[in-house]
Amino acid sequence: MAGAVEVRDGAPPMVRTQPPSPARSAVGAVLRLSTEHLARARVASPRLDSELILAHVLGLSRIDLYLQFDRPLLESELQPIRDLLRRRAAGCPVAYLVGAREFHSLNFTVSPAVLIPRPESELLVDIGAALVGEVRTRVLELGCGSGCVAVALARSAPSARVDLVDLSPEAVAIAARNAEALGVEDRVEVLCGNWVDPVRARGPYDLVVSNPPYVTTAEWDGLDPGVRDFEPRLALDGGPDGLTSYRELLAVLPQVVRPGSVVLLEGDPRRLGGVDELARAAWPAAETSLHRDLSGRDRVLEVLVR
Ligand code: GLN
Repeated sequence: MAGAVEVRDGAPPMVRTQPPSPARSAVGAVLRLSTEHLARARVASPRLDSELILAHVLGLSRIDLYLQFDRPLLESELQPIRDLLRRRAAGCPVAYLVGAREFHSLNFTVSPAVLIPRPESELLVDIGAALVGEVRTRVLELGCGSGCVAVALARSAPSARVDLVDLSPEAVAIAARNAEALGVEDRVEVLCGNWVDPVRARGPYDLVVSNPPYVTTAEWDGLDPGVRDFEPRLALDGGPDGLTSYRELLAVLPQVVRPGSVVLLEGDPRRLGGVDELARAAWPAAETSLHRDLSGRDRVLEVLVR
């Protein structure tokens, strides 16, 4: 929990030295003071977040911060650093503050219009890329958000042609930007609409991936404020039983797949059984299996359409 109670409204400690003495406002010293400030505000990874904020403001990589440890910072550099530290201490996720998050070793642009990429979703990329061979080349992602899953998949599988769909026009713009920045825009198309609506005439797809909203509404209410108050509810709230989006998705997905297609659905470990039932209702002869994430919990349902 981002315990906002401990956060003081005032500026981080380094600004008390006004103007900052050269020794206190060198990169290394600012990093240390920033880390202490975020730690006091109960931020979970104060050192990493301080590095990300400093690197972002200074236009450096995190390694460069250490190579320029003794570089004195200007007041014009300290001001935006203080501002971002204050917002981080107040709970805003660091990915939104710096506009980026690494996923599958790639740098993705993010904004508050999209869910911040989660490490467990890399599983969708890895399973998907392993399935894309010479024959499996048409890929669809539904509810793409930042586009991290489908764009990373396109990067890992050069033979794949990938369509992405999201209901949010802001998300579509970000996903298209990520596809371009990561050099796969010639094989990737991002479309705006509800589930398969924009791609009905473009199927059938060989592989469909989705990480739909799967938190129950009650769980959403109780989420860490850093998630609940900042990340898009549209991407998280899966309705009373967390399965609303799978019901919608699996009701229309048969329109864009064929026998032999594979569907990969990320989900909550406790509810993938329910997702499995919905998939079997859509395709009674389907073969299904579960994949575990890095923490050993069931995370992805694989459906072989029959
Ligand atoms: N894994 C995300 C979380 O726990 C949920 C993602 C989703 O609902 N698709 O915050």
